[in-house]
Amino acid sequence: MKKTDKIFVAGHRGMVGSAVVRALVREGYANVVTRTHAELDLLDPCAVRAFYETERPDVAVIAAARVGGIGANSAANALFLYENEMIALNTVWAAAEAGVKRLLFLGSTCIYPRLAPQPIPEEALLTGELEKTNEGYALAKISGLKLCEFLRRDRGLCYHSLMPTNLYGPGDNYDLVGGHVLPTMVRKFEEARVRGDATVPLWGTGSPLREFLHVDDLAAACLFVLNLDNPPDLLNVGSGEEVSIRDLAEQVRAATGCPATIDWDVTKPDGTPRKLCDTSRIRALGWKPAISLAEGLARTVSDYRTECAEHRVRMGHR
Ligand code: GDP
Repeated sequence: MKKTDKIFVAGHRGMVGSAVVRALVREGYANVVTRTHAELDLLDPCAVRAFYETERPDVAVIAAARVGGIGANSAANALFLYENEMIALNTVWAAAEAGVKRLLFLGSTCIYPRLAPQPIPEEALLTGELEKTNEGYALAKISGLKLCEFLRRDRGLCYHSLMPTNLYGPGDNYDLVGGHVLPTMVRKFEEARVRGDATVPLWGTGSPLREFLHVDDLAAACLFVLNLDNPPDLLNVGSGEEVSIRDLAEQVRAATGCPATIDWDVTKPDGTPRKLCDTSRIRALGWKPAISLAEGLARTVSDYRTECAEHRVRMGHR
């Protein structure tokens, strides 16, 4: 990727897209193209096609998606399937039709089977049943990454994908019902501290294992793979640090300085029991994360307090 390339980042207002734009600008890529939702509806194939034909970017990074935690996904699998499928097919297919030479598609490690071997290697794709709580989202992301793979094979376009583990960072969604576990915990503990609550309600048993990656590490990984001449079709990206939900809760409690005790609501779902991705492939190519969970949590609590003070905490979907 050249510094003068015109780079389209789809989803630049989201947590991932905004981190990618920050990283591109910091690294001196001056020609970044973005569109707000109001300017370009990614669910509309004609609008997306017209956009690519007018703008003719050299590179596209597809970071747009409807995302949410276990609550949002399990309550609306149809919506998560439909919107993410349309976004993936429109943004990838129309890019190919308009002659975009390079494209990076972003997914998630929830594309892998629920009971995949751990840590999950890229080869586990499509070897078993998906996790039911986010099956719609996963199916849409599998379509997107397969479309990239097929276009690369059929037309020689360098379209490839990154599957990040659970992400967190600035601009995250702090919705108590629809958000992912880490930002939700930050908000719950911080609000309990401020209000002086004795307990904090959390979901499930606390036993599932998860891995978390700071979004600035993901953005660095995006630039890294975009600068590979012949990247693999699919690469996992994660921190390699595994933590139980219970341990995470203790760490978030400490990071916020909240003295409350935790009340586990076991009527809420645990989701997939373990989700650690095998990142040996991207590490062998030369990438590694720079932000530990401890440092990332400290930064996130501080970012959240700033976002609160400036009344710009994101809750729910834009
Ligand atoms: P997942 O990683 O795709 O399953 O989605 P999440 O990021 O929402 O993480 C869900 C895991 O965290 C499950 O094991 C939940 O039971 C657990 N969890 C504990 N408390 C909460 C909470 O307040 N919100 C969410 N979303 N998950 C929670």
